[in-house]
Amino acid sequence: VPGRDWDRAVELVSSAEEVALACHISPDGDALGSTLAVGLALRAVGKRVVASFGERGFTVPRLLRFLPGQDLLVDPDDYPAAPELMISFDAPTADRLGELARVAGKARELVVVDHHPSHVGFGTLNLVDPGAAATAVLAEELIRRLGLPVDRDIATCLYAGLVTDTGSFRHSSTTSEVHAMAGRLIATGLNPEEIARELWDRSPFGYLRVLGLALERVVLEPETGDGLGLVWTYVTRDDRAAYGLPYHEVEGIIDVVRRTDDADVAVILKEDDGGAWQVSTRSKGGIDLSRVCATLGGGGHAKAAGFTSHQPVEQTMAAFRALLRRAA
Ligand code: 5GP
Ligand code: MN
Ligand code: MN
Repeated sequence: VPGRDWDRAVELVSSAEEVALACHISPDGDALGSTLAVGLALRAVGKRVVASFGERGFTVPRLLRFLPGQDLLVDPDDYPAAPELMISFDAPTADRLGELARVAGKARELVVVDHHPSHVGFGTLNLVDPGAAATAVLAEELIRRLGLPVDRDIATCLYAGLVTDTGSFRHSSTTSEVHAMAGRLIATGLNPEEIARELWDRSPFGYLRVLGLALERVVLEPETGDGLGLVWTYVTRDDRAAYGLPYHEVEGIIDVVRRTDDADVAVILKEDDGGAWQVSTRSKGGIDLSRVCATLGGGGHAKAAGFTSHQPVEQTMAAFRALLRRAA
């Protein structure tokens, strides 16, 4: 991100009295963490702040409820209709803002803070760096350039973003700068053990049963194109209903499926409450899944991407397999 864009962002935020923040629907730790971090920092200096992830009658996913600053969140219906200044976090396209996509089009100034390579620059100012490990990295820089302090609560939000998007400091995005940032955040007194537990180790018992169903069905296809192994499975709405499991509880199953060394590409199809299939894909090799998923109407990063499908599982996999062969 060029220095003049940062300067302009600092100008816009400093001169605004009210700031409307937003992140993508079905927020993860990076989206909500970045939003709440900046929200807390701006509220601390007396700005009026509202935040939302564009879902009517929203509920914050259980694993993100420990994040400080949730009192900043409002329903999309209570969000300003045409904000003076809106800041969007972790969304590559306006439609990822759900109900707030239309508001984004009406904001006088729209600052887009993001790290997706598939982003389309839908802001009046785009602070977009595909090289950033997380949007939280850019959120921290914005707070720093505004000259605002990062207290333990703000650090907790930023750390949640950093640890989520780097896969607990395992992905290729994990650099010395990432660890330096983690060090700065931990120095505020936050507890990494507590955050890791909140994010990953507080699943309801039914999660284990549904994970069992997903693993029972798992398929390994060793010959998908250029020696590219493909491992995949699915979880239905009925699987979750049998154990009273909300959709967001199954989002981490992909991290189990991708563990096998016998496949470079891992896929899980998750049926949401509306009956649509949310497809998560992961790659260990050189294949760029953000391009494959973009062809199917989604997007993401080279090694972690996704899309939504309204077709039956087998049909979706046939389409994905064909694109994978072509991309290999
Ligand atoms: P996940 O599989 O964890 O849900 O998402 C992995 C990555 O793919 C994230 O960076 C996310 O933004 C992107 N992604 C997942 N689903 C979609 C989708 O339906 N549309 C777009 N544009 N990106 C998606
Ligand atoms: Mn995200
Ligand atoms: Mn992110």
